[in-house]
Amino acid sequence: MPRSHILALDQGTTSSRAIVFDASGVACGTAQREFAQGFPQLGWVEHDAQEIWATQLDTARSALKAAGVDAADVAAIGITNQRETVVVWERASGRPIAPAIVWQDRRTAPQIEALRASGIEPMVIKRTGLLLDPYFSATKIAWILDHVSGARARAERGELAAGTIDSWLLWNLSSGAVHATDVTNASRTMLMDRRTLAWDPELLAAFRVPPAILPRIHPSDAAFGMASAELLGAEIPVHGILGDQQAALFGQRCMEPGMAKNTFGTGCFMLMQTGTQAATSRHRLLGTVAWQRSGEPAHHALEGSVFVGGSAIQWLRDGLGIIRSAPEVNALAASVSDAGGLMMVPAFTGLGAPHWDPHARGAMLGITRGTTAAHIARATLEGIAHQVADLADAMSADAGTPLSLLRVDGGAAASDFLMQLQAELLGIALERPKVVETTAQGAAFMAGLGCGLWSDASQLARMRAVDRTFQPTWDSGRRADARARWKRAVECSRSWHPAEEVNR
Ligand code: ADP
Repeated sequence: MPRSHILALDQGTTSSRAIVFDASGVACGTAQREFAQGFPQLGWVEHDAQEIWATQLDTARSALKAAGVDAADVAAIGITNQRETVVVWERASGRPIAPAIVWQDRRTAPQIEALRASGIEPMVIKRTGLLLDPYFSATKIAWILDHVSGARARAERGELAAGTIDSWLLWNLSSGAVHATDVTNASRTMLMDRRTLAWDPELLAAFRVPPAILPRIHPSDAAFGMASAELLGAEIPVHGILGDQQAALFGQRCMEPGMAKNTFGTGCFMLMQTGTQAATSRHRLLGTVAWQRSGEPAHHALEGSVFVGGSAIQWLRDGLGIIRSAPEVNALAASVSDAGGLMMVPAFTGLGAPHWDPHARGAMLGITRGTTAAHIARATLEGIAHQVADLADAMSADAGTPLSLLRVDGGAAASDFLMQLQAELLGIALERPKVVETTAQGAAFMAGLGCGLWSDASQLARMRAVDRTFQPTWDSGRRADARARWKRAVECSRSWHPAEEVNR
């Protein structure tokens, strides 16, 4: 019997998940476990890498059990993961030398400011597509080497290994045999030149990261290595690795340049595939590697993120108490015919792309004696949709052609009300797939292609059934009015927070 299943490991910021897919791409077993978040100081966010590995292994075993599938029936493992988060560990013992520094962590803001002052940002943008920011892995690795006693010397001697979460999982799955990563994860470290797909000596020198510490970079569908038999009951090849947003783009089958997806989660992430040339944004979006198949050039993408998306709905629930659960927002917002002139800018932690304003803060404008909870709910959903429209505008301007369709996923994409509003503000159709687990699906697709279980792209396209399409109905005048009012509201929200408190 040929092996007929794919095991996708979906290692997220708050939980580890595993999903078993059968040969027709249907999820047949799932498991999920949350793990601890460490906030040792203001602006710091840490994970225990051992706990990440333990919860991930546990969910892999549980998902196989739930699916009733034996490890010997699994053709390949695909990994998708929270990006940018770094682990540094001892090669000899496999033990991390410090807590993992999570992508949200701002502790390296002073180092970033010093690098900016040295004038290297244009070179960094050109080579990596990324803007100089503590978000990315490079300064996090250097911070660990500078703050753990003896670490820098040990790194130079080759005793330590560093990597993003995918490489940490791969190391553990292979019982320490393999130290590798894929191009999409490497493209988020700020250390890889996205044109050569190799670690860049000048970037390594600028960020003070010794080359001996880094994993080998492979295409996303490479034969990365074998998961040891003693872990899951049989040896299984790891044949696909993608960062989480790239996995969603691949899972949504955005195979042609100009195709885009937006994930409506806690925050919102929009990626547009731009083809095999590395695109550089003129509108403060990020350029990133979308994926690479073995023997083919890499595909690239433009990326923009909104910091507060679905979490604005959680604020209505937890902060204001005007709804008891997230889905309740839809009926409340639909109970009024418009927001009664209210505008809400959910810039609770500043504004992301394309504004990049850490000083912005949330704003509610146009409150009158007639404003009700329903107007606030509606204005909040409109605020989420306007932020996503800002990303789409920037992408269209960079691409030179407007978006023609947006594929959507993530928890808040379940809201028909929000999706219709989004279609109105964009003036294009939105397409929601039946399977909204696009991240795990993307990793499974990549691994299934890599190991030969699935052979062509049209086979995968058939696995992506559409649940619903949302068509815009507003005329262009109404859309333009709404967008103009939003732009005025954004201006009011900007530069509110004192500069000296921003990085705390
Ligand atoms: P993440 O992966 O970022 O943790 P999810 O993709 O699970 O997030 O999405 C969770 C978000 O979706 C929450 O912020 C919640 O407010 C929102 N959400 C979930 N269900 C609904 C719904 N039916 N209507 C509107 N928002 C929803």
